[in-house]
This record gives sequence, structure tokens and C-alpha cells, in this order.
Amino acid sequence: MKKLILLALALPSLASAQSIGGRAAELRDAALNSDTVAWDFVEGLTTEVGQRLAGTEAEARAREWAVRRLTGLGFSNVRIETFDMPVWVRGEESAEIVSPFPQRLVLTALGNSGATPPRGIEAEVVGFDSVAALEAAPDAAVRGKIVFIDHHMMPTQDGSGYGQFGAPRRQGPTIASRKGAVGIIVRSIGTDHHRNPHTGVQTFGAGAEPIPAAALSVPDAEQLQRILSRGRPVRMHLTLTPRQTGTHQSGNVVAEVPGTDPAAGVIAIGGHLDSWDLGTGAIDDAAGVAITVAAAHRIMQAGPPRRTIRVVLFGAEEPGGFGGDSLYARHRDENNVVLVGESDFGADRVWRVEFSLAAANAALADRIAASLAPLGILRGPGSADAGTDLGPYRRGGAAAIDLNQDGTHYFDYHHTPDDTLDKIDPAQLRQNVAAWTAMLALAADAPERIEPAGAPPAR
Ligand code: ZN
Ligand code: ZN
Repeated sequence: MKKLILLALALPSLASAQSIGGRAAELRDAALNSDTVAWDFVEGLTTEVGQRLAGTEAEARAREWAVRRLTGLGFSNVRIETFDMPVWVRGEESAEIVSPFPQRLVLTALGNSGATPPRGIEAEVVGFDSVAALEAAPDAAVRGKIVFIDHHMMPTQDGSGYGQFGAPRRQGPTIASRKGAVGIIVRSIGTDHHRNPHTGVQTFGAGAEPIPAAALSVPDAEQLQRILSRGRPVRMHLTLTPRQTGTHQSGNVVAEVPGTDPAAGVIAIGGHLDSWDLGTGAIDDAAGVAITVAAAHRIMQAGPPRRTIRVVLFGAEEPGGFGGDSLYARHRDENNVVLVGESDFGADRVWRVEFSLAAANAALADRIAASLAPLGILRGPGSADAGTDLGPYRRGGAAAIDLNQDGTHYFDYHHTPDDTLDKIDPAQLRQNVAAWTAMLALAADAPERIEPAGAPPAR
């Protein structure tokens, strides 16, 4: 008898979980077969706005564009939440080997690079095969020279090489500056062999004077390595004239699908609206914005979810996650965001899901993983960190779900002039929307409480 009563009590939530699961599967399959919202969004943003460098008028135009599009799609509470940030803009950039084998090399300045005089500088090049080798070198070997750092990043599906092999870009300029170098050039953090350099942010640490800092295209880095290997002094003429233009306004664009149960908490998702200035920021990150917008839109069209879905199009992610920090600082005291997820790794298909959910929400994780499996998505053994934009919420203890995109080709185009719309496959984009739709449908209507997952272990 006791058993029967327990079963009866369990039935309604089981039944509702089953019907929610059925609806999630329907919405998932509809997105997979027929979504056009994401493609229209990424096509429109990259065509009608183009590059969207953080803190510039181009990024401001992108915000206005997004507000019009999100309003037109029927989202609620569409708004811009502004914040101020330091802005850096690119100038002239060129490099030539003066001796022993005169020739031009192709490079591009890294974010926050210092500038040469307008006519450039000429100095000897000293090469290192890693940041560790530069660090170990006596200052006298570096002082007055242009440092070159090589590395050997290989493509990986999960993009895990970016952390380790990104060090020459992220830490190299500070170390070189502290050792008295007059400039630094690094092999692009890229896995292609196009003659396109990959830009990206670096920030000079305390006590490090900004020096000119640039990335060589991979073929040019290999060329310079061969030239250095001849054992003769190599002199380079380097011209980089970027500028810090002071403090300017950026902002996050926020839109909502209001839920029916305010006590059930908010699910915050999104990607970043800003891009680097070389391409049109299609895979980084118009795609992520478009995917999350399209998935939330599909939930909205199916009827109000239990939990509010907040979609955030972050400003100024590229120069250092200013938008993510601003959103969290502004809203943390509302203490109502229960789950976060970010899409910022291109537009190739989602291949893996990672959860950072409380143990009490294991059944929700199981339901989401089961709904993603038909899309070819496996359940990973790790945890979710919600990326740069929504990571602050995760670090604050909120639950997170990462839908990992296949990154095998991401670093062929990342931060280059080749980050353009043609790199996005519409069918793969729809698979992303389908995955996000299934996840959102199950999470937004989950009958159980979504519990805090606790702060992640310090790394
Ligand atoms: Zn990005
Ligand atoms: Zn990026």
C-alpha cells in the first residue's frame, strides 16, 4: 500500500517529465530540419554590420541592429546595458627582413600592442621555441632585440591546444618587455597554413611597458624559423602603429522569453556580439549569438516556458570579457540565475555535452543527455565552465551546461580575415540550434528545482 501511494505521488512529475521530453524532441527535430532564424541572424549581422571591434561605432551599430532584430522576432524586455571599457584600434602593420635575405613577412598586431614610430624600428631578431625558453634566456640575449616565439599547436576536436599554445600570445609580450625587447612577434595561434595572421588579445602585466607585439601567419613564422636556422644575424624592420583611444562605451544586448514561474529562476545563455576587426566575426561569434537566439525563439514560439530564458549578446568579449563581467556585476544581487550556457566556439556541429549540475539534478542531466544523443552528441566526463561570457555566474556557483562544438577546424580561421560567413555550413548550424533547443526545452520546463552546483574547484 505504501509503495502504491509513493508511486501515485511520483506519477504526475514522471508523466510531466515524459511529456516535456516529448515536446523537447519535437522542437529539436523541427529545429534540425527547418530552422532559418539562426542563419538569417548570422547572415544579416555579418552582412549589414560586418566587423564589430569592441568599443567602436561598429559595435554600437551591431547593438542597434540586434535590438531591431530581437524585437522583430518577438522577444521581451529587449534592452542595451552599457558599460565603459578601454579601446585599442589597429594601425599600419608591416614587417620586412632587412638581412640576410630581404623580404616581406605577413603579420598583424595583437590586441593592446604598443606602437613603433610611424617609420618603424629596425632590430635583430632573436628566436625561441617556447615561452619557457624566452623566460629562461638572460636579459642580455633579448635586450634591444625583436623576440620571435615559435610553437607547434596541432588541431584538436575540443580545442584544448589553445590554452597551452596560446601562451606565446598571452604571456610572451609581457615577458619580452620585462627583458628589454623592443618588439615581439609570435607564430599565430592557428592550425592553418594560409598566409593569414591570427590576432587576439594580450595584456601587458604590471611593470611591463607596452612594446610592439604581433602575430606572423603560420607560413611566415616557418619562413622566419628557416631564415634564423641559417645561423646568421637576422635584422627586421617592423612597423606597427595601433593606438589606445581611451575609454569608450560598449554594452550587452539582453532579450528575454518570460517564464510563467518567477520562483523557478532564470536560465541565461548567449554568445558575444563583438568581433575582431579583420574578418566579419562569423564563426567568432555571430554564430554563437545566432544559435542561442534561434533556440530561445523556438521555445518562445512553442508557448511560455516555466523558467525565463535570458539571451545575452555580450559586448567586448574579445579584449578581455568586459561584457561578461559587467552583466554579472550588474545582476548578481538579483540572485535568480540558476543555469547558464555559452556558445563561442564556431559553428561546427555539437559533438559533446558537459554538465556542471548539482547531484540532486542528476535526473535532469540524464534527460538532457538522452535528448541530445540522437544528434550524435556524447556525454563527456568533464564539467561545464560556461566560457568567458557566462563563466562569472558559474564561478559564482550557478549550474552550467556546455554544448561543445567540434573545434577541429576552428583555429584555421579564428581571429583571421578568413572568419567570414562562407565558413558556416547551414546544416551544421541547424544541428547546433537543435541541440540548444532540446537542452533549453528540458531545462526551462524541468519540474524539479535547478539547484546551485557550487563553486568549481580552483584551477
Ligand atoms: Zn569568441
Ligand atoms: Zn575570439
